Amino acid sequence: MKRLYSATNGIATLEVIECDCGYHMGIDASYVEQVDDAFFGKTICPSCKEEIPVRAILGMEPIEVDMEVSRECVAFNTVTVVANSEEEARRKALDKAGDYVFSEKDANYEVTDNCWHAVP
Ligand SMILES: [Zn+2]
Repeated sequence: MKRLYSATNGIATLEVIECDCGYHMGIDASYVEQVDDAFFGKTICPSCKEEIPVRAILGMEPIEVDMEVSRECVAFNTVTVVANSEEEARRKALDKAGDYVFSEKDANYEVTDNCWHAVP
């Protein structure tokens, strides 16, 4: 993917990007200059469906954004139960687990979908 050329007619400037598949995409350069987060979200090639990194291709400066992140922790503890079978012990352990304090051992982080906001 590459910036093919910049064309102007004195009124508007058009930046033309060529996708690896050969598709050409024209972008209004004045829009890019006026909107900080222009093309920050995914831009998909209408032909081959690959993501086009428009900001990088046009040499735009990185912007500051707030990202929504979810955190899923993994914690362990031992729960003591009285039971006659493993199945009964599993059920009782789950029932009593809420009464115990778990020390967190590890956590997984994931950026949620459609989650960015430009920092004003
Ligand atoms: Zn393409």
